[in-house]
Amino acid sequence: MLKRLDTWLFSDVDGALFVLRRLLSENARAYAGRYALAFAMMAIVAACTAASAWIMKDMINQVFLERDGRMVWVIAGFVLAIFTVKGAAAYGQLVILGQIGNAIVASTQSRLFRAITRQDLGFFEGSGIGDLGTRLSHNATAARAALDLVVTALGRDLLTVIALVGVMIAQDPLMSLIALVIMPPAILLIAGLVRRVRRVAKTQFVSMTRILSVAQQAISGIRVVKAFAVEERLRQEMDVAVADVEKQANKMTRLSARTSPVMETLGGIAIALVILYGGYAVIELGSDPGGFFAFITALLLAYDPARRLARLNVNLSGHIVGVRLMYEILDRVPASNEEEGTHALTISDGHVRFENVDFRYGDAPALNGLEFEARPGEVTALVGPSGAGKSTVFALLERFYDPLSGRITIDGQDLREASVAGLRSQIALVSQDTFLFDLTVRENIAIGRPGASEAEIREAARQANADGFIEELEAGYDTRVGEGGSRLSGGQRQRVAIARAILRDAPLLLLDEATSALDSESEAKIQAALSRLMKGRTTLVIAHRLATVREAAQIIVMDKGRVLEAGPHAALLAKGGLYKRLCDLQFADFDAEDAANPAAADTD
Ligand code: ADP
Repeated sequence: MLKRLDTWLFSDVDGALFVLRRLLSENARAYAGRYALAFAMMAIVAACTAASAWIMKDMINQVFLERDGRMVWVIAGFVLAIFTVKGAAAYGQLVILGQIGNAIVASTQSRLFRAITRQDLGFFEGSGIGDLGTRLSHNATAARAALDLVVTALGRDLLTVIALVGVMIAQDPLMSLIALVIMPPAILLIAGLVRRVRRVAKTQFVSMTRILSVAQQAISGIRVVKAFAVEERLRQEMDVAVADVEKQANKMTRLSARTSPVMETLGGIAIALVILYGGYAVIELGSDPGGFFAFITALLLAYDPARRLARLNVNLSGHIVGVRLMYEILDRVPASNEEEGTHALTISDGHVRFENVDFRYGDAPALNGLEFEARPGEVTALVGPSGAGKSTVFALLERFYDPLSGRITIDGQDLREASVAGLRSQIALVSQDTFLFDLTVRENIAIGRPGASEAEIREAARQANADGFIEELEAGYDTRVGEGGSRLSGGQRQRVAIARAILRDAPLLLLDEATSALDSESEAKIQAALSRLMKGRTTLVIAHRLATVREAAQIIVMDKGRVLEAGPHAALLAKGGLYKRLCDLQFADFDAEDAANPAAADTD
């Protein structure tokens, strides 16, 4: 029964009513008290509207027919009272609904952001940032708009129509029947439009996302955009996206405007029929004209809210798309493993083993039976051509993903059984794309270990060779670093990141060396800081510097997701395999013959 009503009323091929019911039930509970108050106000508004129609009867009969001068005053006073009360109630209703709406937008946005940050990495790679940005603002507003529409429709409009129909029936039941014959065709006509509106709304949203994604790319990559002069191409792409949205918006406008001529004509038919019958009744049958007037007034007043009710589904459709997308995020269960594994991992030595590990991103293979170990307290360097799978090794160690087969252990404990939070708290990551938050230097370092004391933070900065430049900043440790650390140089950012890692004091260190060269002074300071950081920890380093690989206890040479060669620098060089070729290529000014003379070959 409900399903049929659903289909008929909402042409509900894809469960819009279900989405709406969920939205209503979730929010009705949260704001029950305030909604009740708003409904009470709406009931008052409806009653006042009905009363203003009802009074017409006495006005015509007493004032115009009976010529009762005293009644003029009574009726005028009554009308004034009705409209004052109605105004006050309408004000209350608007304010209450507005506040509920704002609360809904606010709570939806935090819920969405929480849901987004809970997601696994695959989710972010799949959806452009533009997309998520739209969702955060657009979907929360859609939820509010959908609820507002339903609540005012059910509250104000439906109550008003019911009260006015009540007035009509009380005045003349037969005439009411005549007026209401237009209802079924009106509903049928409107229902036909809804499906199309919903489809257009969905395409419109997709195009909107494209606009934001182009804008996002242009803004975040503005240096590259300008340097390579691709502005024109982005502009064209934007023009296409904008034109597309305009087209969809026009289609939407046409579709939703289409209800107007239909409703106007049907309304006209109803009123004409009523005038024919009412005129006949008054002239030929001697009915009282006051009753007829009250009836016509009620009918005219009912017309607007009735039209809004009929259009409710059309207007709602656009918002329902947004609400549906909102639930898509809220309901998405992170594909990752973060909830699994409760074993609190304890790293004592820090012995890392990859045992026959396979991993794919979707269909793209990344690791194929990878097998190696990183021994406790030693530096293990990962080298290999780009795409060999080095970053994937790090991602699996942090459990951003789990292996498809094989296993990874630390001190004999399978990572799959370890709790993610516990595991990550024992890993320090220093990556080449150092990310700093727009906080003070102190807060950026303290991220390494929340709750660290001031002395510990300063000691970490000192060991990272960062205290010198920090003291020279305008506000020292209290200097804000700007978005992404934009107010610090590349070398300074890296030293803050190293300080962060030193403060963390984790037994396992993952180090992704910078590929870009820094000035030699920064370089030397960073190297010294890194050496201090690596001491006594199991370190895995994605190496780009000859100095690093030469000092590593072990070098793992990777290609196509597997290990080709492993061993210390000299042994691998002697083998003359891929490592030797990589050395010749990558460390350009390195003279392979001269391996015994490190002084000449310390840069890359
Ligand atoms: P490396 O760090 O050695 O350059 P990666 O571990 O980044 O190599 O990549 C290994 C393989 O996995 C490459 O073929 C790369 O294209 C692919 N890959 C890496 N990250 C992703 C990702 N997020 N989605 C799809 N494929 C990826």
